[in-house]
Amino acid sequence: MEKSARDSSKLSTPLLDRFWSRVVKSDGCWMWMSPPPKNGYGRISVNGRLWSVHRLSYQMHFGDIPAGLFVCHHCDNRRCVRPDHLFLGTSLDNVRDMIAKGRSRHPNPPPHPGELHGQARLTASQVIEMRRAYAAGEGSYAQMAARFGVHPQTVASIIQGKRWRHLLDGASSFGAPSVSVATGSAFASTLSDLASLR
Ligand SMILES: [Zn+2]
Repeated sequence: MEKSARDSSKLSTPLLDRFWSRVVKSDGCWMWMSPPPKNGYGRISVNGRLWSVHRLSYQMHFGDIPAGLFVCHHCDNRRCVRPDHLFLGTSLDNVRDMIAKGRSRHPNPPPHPGELHGQARLTASQVIEMRRAYAAGEGSYAQMAARFGVHPQTVASIIQGKRWRHLLDGASSFGAPSVSVATGSAFASTLSDLASLR
């Protein structure tokens, strides 16, 4: 208690006024209002340095934050500065807590494996659609190129199976198609048969 009182006294009164004038207290969380939080965490400028307000609140109420420890939220409101909603944790605790609360999200989900390797301009479903359309006689390489917004050479290498070969596996849709249909009896043997299976 003595320690926390001593640490609190380091903060000048104007700062405390400035701090609490920007907080809206409720029965639940005490929310930081301004300036609007970045990354969800409220910040305040003290002597030219930006401080996270939840960390500042923790320090005001409980004393210094040991090196390497994080101030976490029980309430999951990053802009909350209510001291009894705050707890000290390691970075691991912080990550666990984040995952447990479902806050961990990939900002950019990793691409589908087939969409790597410099073929990223088309998606797998576009490639499948392009092959289907070409096989169905819906256009030339050049027309496919215009339709899918790629170079005709790209269309050629896709149709010929030089690119996106993994999507062909076993289907061998070009040349001698052997596409079985739901009835189980019919096998397409020409491009027009293939088209009729749509
Ligand atoms: Zn809270």
